[in-house]
Amino acid sequence: MCDIVYKNGLKFTCTQCSKCCRFDPGFVFLTYSDLDRILLYLHLSKNEFIEKYCRTVNIGEQKRLSLIEKPDFDCIFWNKGGCDIYNSRPLQCRTYPFWKPFLTDRDAWDREAESCAGMNNGSVVDKEAIENCLVLRKTENYILL
Ligand code: SF4
Ligand code: SF4
Repeated sequence: MCDIVYKNGLKFTCTQCSKCCRFDPGFVFLTYSDLDRILLYLHLSKNEFIEKYCRTVNIGEQKRLSLIEKPDFDCIFWNKGGCDIYNSRPLQCRTYPFWKPFLTDRDAWDREAESCAGMNNGSVVDKEAIENCLVLRKTENYILL
């Protein structure tokens, strides 16, 4: 039923308020593709990157790799000018807010919009682009440790 919510697309234009990158504790889980892309971008070895920028998070019986945060809970890659790895940012960041839990019904979308000024704002993102986000999130594999 989730296609009902976005069959005519959904309005989203990021206002660059930075709220989803900063202020509150959270996880930015990495996929294998994220890791490859970021390593290339930063010219770091896998071990160097993991040691400097990552932590292990227990999710049930799984252990996933997440970016670390600064003491004020800003993402480790957040800087005054924005995201230091923007062009190589993780899938989780690239696909927000087109995540399945926010597309189950209109209320779920509107509830999330209370935390993101870009939702219900600006241009319409079409059904195809939204489905592309969903497919990517379904098919890319998160790093399990
Ligand atoms: S919370 Fe929404 S509007 Fe603000 S930076 Fe994140 S995606 Fe953009
Ligand atoms: S990696 Fe970049 S886009 Fe993703 S949360 Fe961190 S600062 Fe924001």
